Amino acid sequence: MARRRRIYEGKAKVLFEGPEPGTLVQYFKDDATAFNNSKHGIISGKGVLNNRISEYLMLRLAEIGVPTHFVRRLNMREQLVREVEIIPIEVVIRNIAAGSLCKRFKIEEGTTLPRSIVEYYYKSDELGDPLVSEEHITAFGWATTQDIDDMLALGLRINDFLTGLFLGVGLRLVDFKLEFGRLYENEEVRVVVADEISPDNCRLWDAKTNEKMDKDRFRNDLGNVKEAYQEVARRLGVLSEADIDLKTPRVVN
Ligand code: UDP
Repeated sequence: MARRRRIYEGKAKVLFEGPEPGTLVQYFKDDATAFNNSKHGIISGKGVLNNRISEYLMLRLAEIGVPTHFVRRLNMREQLVREVEIIPIEVVIRNIAAGSLCKRFKIEEGTTLPRSIVEYYYKSDELGDPLVSEEHITAFGWATTQDIDDMLALGLRINDFLTGLFLGVGLRLVDFKLEFGRLYENEEVRVVVADEISPDNCRLWDAKTNEKMDKDRFRNDLGNVKEAYQEVARRLGVLSEADIDLKTPRVVN
């Protein structure tokens, strides 16, 4: 079968030309990277799980009026998305101290933050995604003040919504990363959620045991990475019977 034209290949996904103008096909790979690409691995089945989990979360967000690039899932590893102009800023929202925040400020992992903290990182592999301020973003023209206002408002709304959604299935949303894009429609442009929302870019801890159920299992060689992602999918109710490998033990019961 002739493959569609490859538009872009990232670390965990490939973007292909879509069936109609203004659309793309987002393909989820099993590749995992960490520490600015210095660690690479394959987590067999991760792409299938992230495709499902991200589909589910993007649909729930659309239901509450948060615009996203997601159109529909096409198959096990692919989803149809609207073509957007990606804003080169990673928006990280934190509720509980973990990862780079702990290192930077010497805060103990697991400390509940006094309020949600929003950070911006400039998307650049070469520079290692540096933390930047609004001043850098606007001065260097990566996004406008309006874009930043939109990303902040949407990000906080998404955080509140997802915190509740995950808590409902026994998971703590510790922190997560969002990407946004500009969607050009008729004469208008609006900022929408792009990329994916999955255990690759969310820290999720079991609400009872604080067990890590996300990419930190890969980053820190904790093992059972796929099983953790599978458990997140199972709790969200997005695994159909056929997808559940009953022979695989669950991380948490
Ligand atoms: N994150 C991400 N992509 C990145 C950097 C961070 O998806 O390139 C996510 C990460 O999974 C976590 C949150 O953003 O949920 C905060 O990550 P942090 O700044 O603590 O960086 P890390 O510890 O991953 O280096």
